[in-house]
Amino acid sequence: MKTSIAIIGAGIAGITLAQALVPYANVTIFEKSRGLGGRMANRRREGFAFDHGAQYFTARSPAFRAVAEAAVEAGHAGIWPRAVHTLKSGGLLTDNRQPEPRYVGLPGMSGFANGLADGLEIRKQTTVAGLQQCGHGWALTDGEGQDLGRFDTVISTAPAPQTIRLMPETFSGHDALAIVRMSGCFTLMIGLDEPLHLDFHAARIEDDILSWIAVEDSKPGRRDKLALTIHSRNDWAEANLERDRDEVKSEMLASLKRLLGLDFSNAAWLDLHRWRYANVEEPASQPFLFDEALGLGACGDWCLGNRVEAAVESATALSTRMITRLQGA
Ligand SMILES: Cc1cc2nc3c(=O)[nH]c(=O)nc-3n(C[C@H](O)[C@H](O)[C@H](O)COP(=O)(O)OP(=O)(O)OC[C@H]3O[C@@H](n4cnc5c(N)ncnc54)[C@H](O)[C@@H]3O)c2cc1C
Repeated sequence: MKTSIAIIGAGIAGITLAQALVPYANVTIFEKSRGLGGRMANRRREGFAFDHGAQYFTARSPAFRAVAEAAVEAGHAGIWPRAVHTLKSGGLLTDNRQPEPRYVGLPGMSGFANGLADGLEIRKQTTVAGLQQCGHGWALTDGEGQDLGRFDTVISTAPAPQTIRLMPETFSGHDALAIVRMSGCFTLMIGLDEPLHLDFHAARIEDDILSWIAVEDSKPGRRDKLALTIHSRNDWAEANLERDRDEVKSEMLASLKRLLGLDFSNAAWLDLHRWRYANVEEPASQPFLFDEALGLGACGDWCLGNRVEAAVESATALSTRMITRLQGA
């Protein structure tokens, strides 16, 4: 009988790992959200569409480049943005260098993860809250203590601060997990009924509060209404994580007004998302964590860096290690 593996999280790391392991094991992914993709997220409201997590991804390794190009071919990804300019109080600094290809999921950012998840067994809206050792495996339970099944091996791809809370004290990866530092981010989503002309599709922002702005309908294949996605700086988010949401929104809008000379406070749609664990400030600096004796492991961007490709690289490295073990079994 094939060994059973539970993967916690259907972000890009969980999906990449699952696809690699499926030929060798019975794999089940548990995902707490309704959708796939984790921080490669998008949201649709009132005819407006926002990629409110990762903005684009690059693919530097030949293997991941091939995956990204196959996704473009299949219509799950497109090339965007061609240029990333810099917006600051003095105006816009344009960057017209030829960039490495940047990719975005289609029709929204999670489309890339959805395209890769084909054929996987994924239990959505199911939060893994407990792991109890039972025989040579692990019994998983949800937040209400409901039984989610028994598995020979359990891998967490949740952000490190969440993985550390899930893993039993006996897990050998705790020291590495404790090193990891992740930072938060606020994302402001603005939907507009009025036409608006901006001289950029995407720009990094040099400011005390804001760090990024994207014009959503400039992305390939988007037929949605005009919308802007704005990220705060991570350090500003960290200092303001518990503040009243309306105050955070107002400060971000005021900053945008200073930079663009435009007041969006009466926009047709305004929304704010708080990411408690958005970006990796200090990674574990090892490609994955795997406690072979216990049958427990972890992977994700936080192992190696701060990018979609770091999550893929971490999951791929762990899958290689696990497949070697499974083939030897
Ligand atoms: C605002 C923002 C901007 C970013 N910009 C970029 C960018 O421009 N380019 C780039 O390359 N990267 C960017 N990133 C980082 C990128 O999104 C991540 O590196 C990558 O998506 C991480 O993938 P992952 O699979 O490791 O983790 P995640 O995407 O976080 O996936 C983990 C999954 O686990 C699930 N989960 C957690 N706990 C449980 C549980 N107990 N039970 C069940 N499920 C659980 C979560 O719901 C989630 O789906 C950005 C991230 C954010 C938030």
